[in-house]
Amino acid sequence: MTKGKIAVITGASRGIGSKIAEKMAQEGYSVVINCNKSEAAAQTLKEKITALGGNAQVYKADIGNREEAKGLIDFCIDTYGDIDVLVNNAGIAQIKLFTDISADEWEEMVRVNLGGMFYCTQSAVSHMISNKSGKVINISSIWGLAGSSCEVHYSTVKAGTIGFTKALAKELGPSNIQVNCVAPGIILTDMMTGFTEEEMAMMRGEIPLQRFGTPEDIADTVLFLASERSSYITGQVISPNGGIVI
Ligand code: NAP
Repeated sequence: MTKGKIAVITGASRGIGSKIAEKMAQEGYSVVINCNKSEAAAQTLKEKITALGGNAQVYKADIGNREEAKGLIDFCIDTYGDIDVLVNNAGIAQIKLFTDISADEWEEMVRVNLGGMFYCTQSAVSHMISNKSGKVINISSIWGLAGSSCEVHYSTVKAGTIGFTKALAKELGPSNIQVNCVAPGIILTDMMTGFTEEEMAMMRGEIPLQRFGTPEDIADTVLFLASERSSYITGQVISPNGGIVI
């Protein structure tokens, strides 16, 4: 159990983020569940955690908006008095031919995925630097490592997440702040609902471990990176992906 530690998880109303928040709370973290559109789902998660004796609060913020992202981190400090772990998980994806991506779609992809990570991290690390302690865990994707056809804007921002992780790890290491990245493979969440059964079967066939990932697979990796067991790891990318990208 990790008694007394405090974590903010962005995009924790659904999917991977929701499982990360649930498992961190089970491990004894006090968690702030950030949501944007799915506030009811975030409240249900909070109730589930509190019913099991955990500590959770919900904060609605569009993390792509600088003021709202700062509001999220300020809420955590006002409520729990500190922040130990920031998990930059919130993200959007889109499947589209490169030539069809509009300027607005490009800008939204960058605003939410990169802007959100930048704004939340900048607010959180000012507290972590004062504490000389903290962990930032950024959720990228295998497509940030390998590139995905018809997801050029998504692949771009997920590659950017890796660059952000490496640069910030170097800058904040002397302040005893670890910055790491998780690059999930294909994980069964709402983000995968746009694919046909045939496409899903094809993708599954390409995975050496012959199964899709679960939000739990990613939450376990995040828990490791948040724990003391990873205290000598910084600037790294860990990719739980069943072997699809090696
Ligand atoms: P998901 O099921 O679509 O959930 C996305 C989450 O992000 C939701 O909680 C959503 O909140 C939140 N979100 C979106 N825009 C937001 C904004 N502007 N402000 C705050 N929150 C926002 O996606 P997922 O599959 O769990 O993905 C989570 C992360 O893992 C993403 O960064 C994604 O790119 C990455 N990833 C996913 C896969 C996969 O196969 N699923 C693979 C690799 C990487 P609301 O619903 O409340 O708006």
